[in-house]
Amino acid sequence: MGFGALKGWFNDLLRIVYPDVCEVCGSSLVRGEEVICLKCDMNMPRTRVHNDSFNIIHERLAGKTPIERAAGYFYYYRESDYASIIHNAKYNGRPIIARKLAMRFAGELMADNFFDGIDIILYVPMFFLKKIKRGYNQSEYIANGLSQATNIPVGHNLISKRSHSSQTKKNSYRRWLNAQGVYDVINPEGLENKHVLIVDDVITTGATLLTCCDVVHKAVPSATISVLSLAVTRLR
Ligand SMILES: [Zn+2]
Repeated sequence: MGFGALKGWFNDLLRIVYPDVCEVCGSSLVRGEEVICLKCDMNMPRTRVHNDSFNIIHERLAGKTPIERAAGYFYYYRESDYASIIHNAKYNGRPIIARKLAMRFAGELMADNFFDGIDIILYVPMFFLKKIKRGYNQSEYIANGLSQATNIPVGHNLISKRSHSSQTKKNSYRRWLNAQGVYDVINPEGLENKHVLIVDDVITTGATLLTCCDVVHKAVPSATISVLSLAVTRLR
């Protein structure tokens, strides 16, 4: 059992002993509240950009692949308490947070018909060795949460061919360069003429998601591509 899995198991045990707490402020959740409390939900720095035909996400993913729709749940400020939701979903063995947040976000997006016409949900893949080490791919959990809320199926067409070094200390161009040749599409015929939604947990420079959009566009030029992310980084 890896450290991450052990920690996840320990957290699950704690959850049985102690009641659920808000992932943002740590206060105990009351009946009807899930993942985050009502106050933190109301104060969440939502991006609300999904109705704009050219928004901050389109801007970051600008390149050779046309992006139809782009949605991001909230802005991610490194020093913000909301950053811990993503951090816990990603590193602390609790991907269920990502799935539940995705379901909430899907509920809000459905009110604006964001999912109309979308045929399949793809997620940014993780190299299998990394997935074994971490135990899960948080982006896959986001895809599953969206699917559960919308009944749109999840496709496992994006694959990661190799590991790529950490992106966190690289600039935009270096991140893009670093991601080249990492991703590939399998069974592209299943995506022909489909409207594909590609999801990730956080958009920083957009390099990872952009690379995934590019490989899908290249493999299946007839596919329409939209993107969704839970968090969008922003400087204060
Ligand atoms: Zn709270």
